[in-house]
Amino acid sequence: MTTIHNLGFPRMGARRELKFALESYWRGESSRAALQEQGARLRQRHWQEQAGLDWVPVGDFSFYDQVLDMSFTLGHLPERVQGFHGDALDNYFRVARGRSAQAEARQGCCGAVAAGEMTKWFDTNYHYIVPEFTAATQFRLDASRLLAQLAEAGAQGVPAKPVLIGPVTYLALGKAKDGSNRLALLERLLPVYAELLETLAAHGVQWVQIDEPILVTELDADWRHAFTTAYHQLKSCRVKLLLATYFGQLQDNAYLAANLPVAGLHVDAVSDPDGVLPLLGLLPAHKVLSLGVVNGRNVWKTDLNATLDWLEPLAARLGERLWLAPSCSLLHVPVDLAQEQRLDAELKSWLAFALQKLDELRLLGRALRDGRSAVEAELAENHAALVARRTSPRVHSPAVRAAVAAITADMGRCQSPYASRAARQAALLQLPAYPTTTIGSFPQTAQIRQARSAFKAGQIDAAAYREAMRAEIARSVRAQEELGLDVLVHGEAERNDMVEYFGEQLDGYAFSQFGWVQSYGSRCVKPPILFGDIERPQAMTVTWTRFAQSLTDRPMKGMLTGPVTLLNWSFVRDDQPRAATCRQLALAMRAEVLDLERAGVRVIQIDEAALREGLPLRRAQWSQYLDWAVQAFRITANGVRDETQIHTHMCYSGINDIMAAIAAMDADVITIETSRSDMELLDAFEDFQYPNQIGPGVYDIHSPNIPAAQQMIALIKKAAERIPAERLWVNPDCGLKTRQWAEVVPALTEMVAAARALRAGS
Ligand code: GLN
Ligand code: ZN
Repeated sequence: MTTIHNLGFPRMGARRELKFALESYWRGESSRAALQEQGARLRQRHWQEQAGLDWVPVGDFSFYDQVLDMSFTLGHLPERVQGFHGDALDNYFRVARGRSAQAEARQGCCGAVAAGEMTKWFDTNYHYIVPEFTAATQFRLDASRLLAQLAEAGAQGVPAKPVLIGPVTYLALGKAKDGSNRLALLERLLPVYAELLETLAAHGVQWVQIDEPILVTELDADWRHAFTTAYHQLKSCRVKLLLATYFGQLQDNAYLAANLPVAGLHVDAVSDPDGVLPLLGLLPAHKVLSLGVVNGRNVWKTDLNATLDWLEPLAARLGERLWLAPSCSLLHVPVDLAQEQRLDAELKSWLAFALQKLDELRLLGRALRDGRSAVEAELAENHAALVARRTSPRVHSPAVRAAVAAITADMGRCQSPYASRAARQAALLQLPAYPTTTIGSFPQTAQIRQARSAFKAGQIDAAAYREAMRAEIARSVRAQEELGLDVLVHGEAERNDMVEYFGEQLDGYAFSQFGWVQSYGSRCVKPPILFGDIERPQAMTVTWTRFAQSLTDRPMKGMLTGPVTLLNWSFVRDDQPRAATCRQLALAMRAEVLDLERAGVRVIQIDEAALREGLPLRRAQWSQYLDWAVQAFRITANGVRDETQIHTHMCYSGINDIMAAIAAMDADVITIETSRSDMELLDAFEDFQYPNQIGPGVYDIHSPNIPAAQQMIALIKKAAERIPAERLWVNPDCGLKTRQWAEVVPALTEMVAAARALRAGS
């Protein structure tokens, strides 16, 4: 009989209950006990929702982050917070979020604590808190969190399978603060894992899921060896280990993974269906093979009939050894499709969120156990929905297909090389040296948000809403003129979000009401659902931009989100390659660029904030991704005349390794986050002999501190050591929407003063 299990459940709650409980606790408005109770209620509900599974994950719930939880379990905290005595949960948030000196003093403690560094969890949009190692790092078991949750699960009759991050992945996820070799810590780490597994065994645990997703990445000999060392040392423990890999293919790690001395292996069969048969040949005959057959990364229904066609022979061959699960933890999908009231019935019939994905698994389990006839009606319904989706005119537009087929290489080319474009643009724009600009958004004030929600609720009409937004635009144009900025922006008052704003106006996009997924801590995002061919029925930004331009003689930047970012921040269709979807987005955005140009807009910025996020986990696949991503950007940007200046913006500093792609985008100007890296990022541009203009961010918009002109002058001078001054722009690191006007005005005053001082030769 096939075993059905889950790897992890979304912890925020279908209505983001945990988010609200956390934030209320952090604001001091509710008690620790109330937060703990909310946590327990959510765990209980989520376990109930997983009823009928043979094994249910325990320990996947977290008040902030599962990697931070693991650090606490291993007694491994950053040096700067060691020796803290007080409430454990409070200390946990202190490590997660940092704490100001004032708040520390209120608790009778000592000096500010910096928040843990966060980074992307593999290729998802979830962010974890990076473990910090030094050569002196020690570990000490603290199993209290796991044991408490196990006891809770036990009391509720849950068939509990504790979930841990495995030792090798744990080391790989961290950073050595002193440049020491993290792998040298393995020897110290393993006894703590062994003790933990023994403790779990002593509490009646049979199976432990031990996550080692770095097995789907490229590993050098030392890291591969670490796997062998680790699992040989853990093999005498009395629990059975299910080694879980996900987010991609094992490829050259398949032999290693198959032969580690554990009781079972989970693989992502959605990413790698073709890898399963060869893996069977490698897998020792006593081992469990868990197949992730339901996609834990997207919102589409599984093709159950096709999955069964594929699974039935495997089930016959493997018998009891076959387990089924989602491809990865369901942390990365929304909770419950049934809550959605505004998605139409047809679209809904194509979708599955976490609860529906678990239903699919139960169904697959029944079909394998009792035969397909036992679930005939459900299978027929699934089939009908998939056929409807495959053939729906809402998904397939012949006009879009024809437009994509008609894309020529020429469309990705500029009229002239950068140097001649730059000369024409300079003649037209007449900008001073060190031209100043901002990245696009100005504060999203309470008035803006009120007007938008009143409009959405039908309390004000479209005309009133337009007037409210125009007033905000006029305010930001006036402010920029007074500040003396050179290239202005309209401020993006009318945009709720840089992806949603465009998605709402493009055909092929749908929006859920409750489709939240955790991004980090209490923060969630609601990615739009890109379900069909992308068409732009009409211009999306021209009216606002034209209005803004009418208020000033200075150049007004048109402001767009690029195709790669639209793609990477959406749930995208699984019935065609991502590259194909990206090309459709590129055509739609190219049309918008051309409309802006026709409306007299001389500078157009195409944001690609998420270009880097789309990089595949394996380096070997980077160039393929970057090729189509850059091409999509070029198709978007390059329909314009030489005189029209194209900007792009990226708000991250890790670009050294994608410099060639950035150069290939060939934007006339790139603005980029640099202030926190002290302009070191520009080394990459210098080494690459990057020929175009750069606006290295001169202050950090994430902080409420007002930067001083002197500080920015020093930064720009540093930049000028690497990039000729005539190619430098002066701008903040990113958009200003999260700041207050009271912060923005003084900060930009200082920034403009810095540019003026440099022009005057200081
Ligand atoms: N133009 C956007 C803004 O200013 C860019 C945001 C981003 O890069 N994340 O808000
Ligand atoms: Zn940015």
